[in-house]
Amino acid sequence: MSSFVFAPPATASVPVAGRSERFPVHRIYCIGRNYAEHAKEMGAAVTPEDPIFFMKPADAVVCDGADVAYPPATMDLHHEVELVLALGQGGRDLDEASALAAIWGHAVGLDLTRRDLQAKAKAKGAPWDVAKGFDASAPIGAIRPVSETGVLSNGVLRLDVNDQLRQQSDIADMVLDSAKILMALSRFYTLQAGDLVFTGTPSGVAALARGDVFHATFPGLPELRGRMI
Ligand code: MN
Repeated sequence: MSSFVFAPPATASVPVAGRSERFPVHRIYCIGRNYAEHAKEMGAAVTPEDPIFFMKPADAVVCDGADVAYPPATMDLHHEVELVLALGQGGRDLDEASALAAIWGHAVGLDLTRRDLQAKAKAKGAPWDVAKGFDASAPIGAIRPVSETGVLSNGVLRLDVNDQLRQQSDIADMVLDSAKILMALSRFYTLQAGDLVFTGTPSGVAALARGDVFHATFPGLPELRGRMI
């Protein structure tokens, strides 16, 4: 048995609805521009044949009910409410059947974005990492296993901030559905059990400020609540 020069960091994890065991997080993948109306509000085109992928660190997860610290180095933090896939198996070059079989559960999440830093990166043709992959950038609700819901392909994803509607769209409007996202992603990476995949945000992205209370919902999934501090 190997030992370490200091105690290894804790494994990031997310609660599972109705279970005491937690879902251990391996990686967090995200897709960009996966709803046409959101691509339009960002002044971009959708390119289903060439999807945009990016990542967040596993320990960026913040669980339901926790306060979220407003991140440094931004004047324009944005919310992006998203359906999240939680994988129970992985692989490379997945076909549709193996992509669907890889989905262990679903959750509701926020892809928090430093929009000002993203705009700067886009202008320079630079990577999006500091805009997307920062500490506490992935608030997520508890995961509900597909054994209880089946793979979700429609239903209204919704985000309210301070009890005001901000984002609302049917996930049937995704440009690439869940299976197609995993098929495309697995061309670039070996997917593994424990991976979380944020499936893109509908239109209505806007700023979050300290003190704002967010509430994200999807029918049949545990809600996500939190407060910016
Ligand atoms: Mn997003």
